[in-house]
Amino acid sequence: MSKILIVEDEEAIAELEKDYLELSGFEVDVENSGRVGLDRALGEEFDLIILDLMLPEVDGFEICKTVREKKDIPILLVSAKKDDIDKIRGLGLGADDYITKPFSPSELVARVKANLTRYQRLTSSEKSKNDIIEIRGIKIDKTARRVYVDGEERAFTTKEFDLLTFLAEHPNHVFKKEELFRQIWDMDALGDIATVTVHIKKIREKIEVNTSQPQHIETIWGVGYRFKV
Ligand code: CA
Repeated sequence: MSKILIVEDEEAIAELEKDYLELSGFEVDVENSGRVGLDRALGEEFDLIILDLMLPEVDGFEICKTVREKKDIPILLVSAKKDDIDKIRGLGLGADDYITKPFSPSELVARVKANLTRYQRLTSSEKSKNDIIEIRGIKIDKTARRVYVDGEERAFTTKEFDLLTFLAEHPNHVFKKEELFRQIWDMDALGDIATVTVHIKKIREKIEVNTSQPQHIETIWGVGYRFKV
């Protein structure tokens, strides 16, 4: 269930908004003070904030700006004056949407839903992008733990997969064998670092066209390995 924070000093309006949102299945907290509202927005986990602009002490402009610097959640600004909309745009506060009073509760609910859906879509597409690494014909699907070379799947053991993924996640960075051993085998580097060499050889057999002239994982003599971009 999505959790919403309403920061609004007019209690009657806040309660009305809360009732309608709860009827639509949201969990809602109301804060009448701007100062406390800001603290809660920063310190607690909410999925969306409905923020009134005109608040005593700390106003909505200030809260919006501060929250946006720290958090990536949708902020819906509520304003009593149509003129404020120009100001909101001009200030570039990073608000996601705004609504002018008076508004119908159903309009508010629709805006909240639209903003939440947009954000969820955005976050999930970012997430899936991060789970796939694609470098020059090699595609690593981290979630499914699969590797494709020029579109063809190749079978990797757990450690081979971890080692390849680690190198590909740090392209062009030269790693010593000891560092790789520590990273992948999760033991003190006093272990047998020749294991790294063996695994690199096996990975190359699966991803390189010619293992004597590797195009992806390069040997830096006397140092270690790097994944070339
Ligand atoms: Ca107000």
